[in-house]
Amino acid sequence: MANRIIRLQDIVEEVQKFHPDSDTSLIEKAYIFSAKAHEGQLRLSGEPYLSHPLEVAYLLAKMGLGPVTVSSGLLHDTVEDSAATLDEVEEYFGEEVADVVNGVTKIGQLVFGDRQTQQAEYIRKMILSMSHDIRVLLVKLADRVHNMRTLGFMEPAKQKRIARETLEIYAPLAGRLGMFRLKAELEDLSFYYLEPEAYQQIQEGLSRKTGALEKYNREMCEFLREKLEEHHIKGEVSGRVKNLYSIYRKLQAQQITLDELYDLLAFRIIVDTLSDCYETLGVIHALFRPVPGRLKDYIGMPKANMYQSIHTTVIGQGGERLEIQIRTREMHRVAEEGIAAHWSYKERRAYHEKDAQRFSWLKQMVDLQKELKNPQELLEGVRLELYPDEVYVFTPTGDVKELPRGATLVDFAYAIHSEVGNRCSGAKVNGRMVPLRTELQNGDTVEVTTSPHHHPSRDWLQFVKTTKARHKIRQWLKVAEREQSVALGKELLEREVRKAGASLQKLIKEGDELKKVVQEFSFRAIDDLLAAIGHGKVSPGQVSNRLFRNAAPAVEEAPALEPQVKRGKEEPAGLKIKDLDDMLMRLANCCQPIPGDAIMGYITRGKGVTIHRADCPYLASTETFRHIPAEWDGGGSPNKLYPVKIQVVTVDKPGLLADITSALKIADVNVTKASVETTAENKGVAQFTIQVADQVHLEKVFGALKRLKEVISVRRMMG
Ligand code: MN
Repeated sequence: MANRIIRLQDIVEEVQKFHPDSDTSLIEKAYIFSAKAHEGQLRLSGEPYLSHPLEVAYLLAKMGLGPVTVSSGLLHDTVEDSAATLDEVEEYFGEEVADVVNGVTKIGQLVFGDRQTQQAEYIRKMILSMSHDIRVLLVKLADRVHNMRTLGFMEPAKQKRIARETLEIYAPLAGRLGMFRLKAELEDLSFYYLEPEAYQQIQEGLSRKTGALEKYNREMCEFLREKLEEHHIKGEVSGRVKNLYSIYRKLQAQQITLDELYDLLAFRIIVDTLSDCYETLGVIHALFRPVPGRLKDYIGMPKANMYQSIHTTVIGQGGERLEIQIRTREMHRVAEEGIAAHWSYKERRAYHEKDAQRFSWLKQMVDLQKELKNPQELLEGVRLELYPDEVYVFTPTGDVKELPRGATLVDFAYAIHSEVGNRCSGAKVNGRMVPLRTELQNGDTVEVTTSPHHHPSRDWLQFVKTTKARHKIRQWLKVAEREQSVALGKELLEREVRKAGASLQKLIKEGDELKKVVQEFSFRAIDDLLAAIGHGKVSPGQVSNRLFRNAAPAVEEAPALEPQVKRGKEEPAGLKIKDLDDMLMRLANCCQPIPGDAIMGYITRGKGVTIHRADCPYLASTETFRHIPAEWDGGGSPNKLYPVKIQVVTVDKPGLLADITSALKIADVNVTKASVETTAENKGVAQFTIQVADQVHLEKVFGALKRLKEVISVRRMMG
């Protein structure tokens, strides 16, 4: 992939940029030694072998490293791959260079054993040599970058193995060292060989968007530049498309397509001084609305790898997310080159373990490899240190699950299987029962208990961290809500059609009439219509009217001038009106009195006495000479149920009707009618007609409803 062969002069020039006074004769000597050692050798690409150490040395020079490290880069393969010996290297180039070359050589030497043992030993050697001198790792990383760039010449099986190793070990190591540019390159190259199809798809998707992305980038940079100028801040603004692998990870994590991912670009503003950083942040937050929780001040609180920058995410003019990093020039150099930028200043100083221990994670890795003799344990341990944003926990059988930091037991349950998530009822962490919302810690052993009667709760959405868990919980709630709505809708419609003397069961069986109505309401299936009724979007009366439109129009509880008469067996039993025992009696539909209410009779013209609630406004509007005192005889008949209309005001929430209905079921009342609407203040107003025995029963229902935390108020309505 290298277009041009690197010459010695290129390397020397690059070193002199960062180290103008340095003696580059060591590099020239190393070049000659390496050229002689590798003479006649070829790379798989067919190029002279020397091109490889030259590229590696050039990469190191570009990182700002000095003559010792750059020379080590030129010599890194001489001991391993040529007739040259370590003694010769030490004799010509001194102990420091020889130590680095020795470290690199040792890492590369073969170990016998299974794959896992080999990899563990490999990592153990790498940790040891980099704790001794971090420059060993820098040379090894540069070596890996060039090998990855030329991986195309290897056979496919080897390509995948090396790419996997790069993605799992070298890329995160580069990240841990703060070398983000290098990390991105290693990730993308690995991604190319490991997932060629996904790689190509994203690449093609991006190239289709190139025009739009470039235009957006140009305009946003220009806009930001102008705004900085207005505030007299000198700053360089640039935008870039994120690396392919990080885009791929986002698409995977959020389960979306490239077209749905808006933050493909990341912007960077490089300013002169530290105070400019904060001032720039102020300017940006005044221009765009910041996304809560996304402001990270790594200037005040530098990362362990010395990375410093301010990160913020804001909402752009089109509603898109904009990621912006703000830093000074020096911070930028550290951000790009990481540890190399830091070490390059100290080329002449000796490197000791003390240096490595500046990085607590590196020290932890050193301790780890001392403690963990078992290769599998060592690999797991190293992974913990390399991926600080993840936690690793164990199943009772010892399998490892990787979850984002902050993940809870519910996330774990869903990571095992969706059904385990949907049925999880409790969990033990390291043998102790803990609440499901408990955050997992590295190394926890987690055991989830499931029960067929358990199911996800809406509350879980407030603490789960993984997209998978969130998605599966939402899915379950949606299905469950729908099932409840369909069942409720069926019940409501059943009652309604029974009034017209029909049976819903039969209507569903015959199908045609009902299907016509389903179509008229623009639903696809009968269940959709039933769900809509259950959800209160369609009233059962509307449906019934359409079904029986040729029959006499059903009268819907409209308050008639004279309250409707309840006939035959519906005539209230246990009702006694003083001195008028032989009168025909019925209960008024307008105010729906129930046993326990204060009542008053109304003598109709020739249709007997209608019983109203004493405070019924309809009654108040009638001629008082027709009023006749009345009172319940005892508490009414034990088997008789009376309809009551109630209103429940709640916090607006989808599926509200189903929630209330199940509370009503628990309170042992039938619902014969339900409707729900949302007010402008985002409150849900539901109205139900329920059947109760008496006031005591109604009080119980009110109590049950008021216990629901979403319920704001409950009151009885006129009929
Ligand atoms: Mn090499």
